[in-house]
Amino acid sequence: MSEQQEEQSEDRKKYEFRKLIEELKEYSGSGTQLVTIYIPPDRQISDVVAHVTQEHSEASNIKSKQTRTNVQDALTSIKDRLRYYDTFPPENGMVLFSGAVDSGGGQTKMVTEVLENPPQPVESFRYHCDSEFLTEPLEHMLADKGLYGLIVLDRREANVGWLKGKRVEPVKSASSLVPGKQRKGGQSAQRFARLRLEAIDNFYQEVAGMANDLFVAKRHELDGILVGGPSPTKDEFLDGDYLHHELQDKVLGKFDVSYTDESGLSDLVDAGSEALSEAELMQDKDDMNEFFSELQGGGLATYGFEPTRQNLVMGSVDRLLLSEDLRKDVVVYECENGHEEYEVVDRRASTPSHDCTDCDATVAADDGEREDVIDFLMEIADQRGTDTHFISTDFEKGEQLLTAFGGIAGLLRYDTGI
Ligand SMILES: [Zn+2]
Repeated sequence: MSEQQEEQSEDRKKYEFRKLIEELKEYSGSGTQLVTIYIPPDRQISDVVAHVTQEHSEASNIKSKQTRTNVQDALTSIKDRLRYYDTFPPENGMVLFSGAVDSGGGQTKMVTEVLENPPQPVESFRYHCDSEFLTEPLEHMLADKGLYGLIVLDRREANVGWLKGKRVEPVKSASSLVPGKQRKGGQSAQRFARLRLEAIDNFYQEVAGMANDLFVAKRHELDGILVGGPSPTKDEFLDGDYLHHELQDKVLGKFDVSYTDESGLSDLVDAGSEALSEAELMQDKDDMNEFFSELQGGGLATYGFEPTRQNLVMGSVDRLLLSEDLRKDVVVYECENGHEEYEVVDRRASTPSHDCTDCDATVAADDGEREDVIDFLMEIADQRGTDTHFISTDFEKGEQLLTAFGGIAGLLRYDTGI
């Protein structure tokens, strides 16, 4: 897969996860009977099965017969699913949900979902039994965006690492042989100063080498680099062009931090939080600025379901812009005369019947095929080689995409007049 395709499917995967989480959050059980299990990548499946078996036998002590049966059914269903895995879970771990949920009118239905490879590795094993599914850890993973490089240094010590979402990952460290300011007896002041400067220069080169080794290979995925430390070290380091030139362009800012050990990396993330949230929205902001400027004069913009769909089918859309918070379905109607038309409806609304605008034939609600509007549009986009960008609603123009343009827009390759 190309990098672009990878990013695309990553976005799509996140959207699928978000949708699933929203579904799971709506469920509730009449008792403490909904089971959620988070399995980190290094946890053996056999351990998990043993844990589930143990919980199953302990559940026999539950007083309410109904709840007891429901919990045991959920655990059995989870055990069945675990059979499909070998020694370890997939790369980023997995999350299992199972339980009898209220389905209205005093009825329940059994729901079992397995979510493999969440966007970030599952950090710790969790067994959770409650009247609701435990979705917060997953929600946190999805809220976190971006990949950033972190460098903290003073003249004695340096640490280099990643910020992945909200997770700080220290990777490499170095300590210097830069002598202190106090020279030893017998050394000339000049010679001492020169040796000291050389040692500092060597150390900066070593730190830059570590950063280059780590970051250059990932420079296309990297959303930015933060540099921290006391003054004037971090300034000398940045001004001295030690970093690879492509990395220099990625530096979001330099920040004062007191520690340059691993804990300094976390301090750096705190100190740079504003620059980070700016950077997270940068791509989205660029897209929306372009959209508005095309709307006002360039002519290379389209919006709303039907015009965007038509442009997509023609292959004229360069980038499809979808609001992250768009939650609608599209109903595809085909009338008796073979005219195909679409209607966008609220996810919770029932399917309406439809009057064909071509021939006035009425299509019954049951004859409409209903699908998530994002899946529908992305599928055409994928076929036509169009990029899809999900746009956050955390800034004004992103909010406007959802409220004023139905959450759907496109930047065009050429003006189609649609
Ligand atoms: Zn018709």
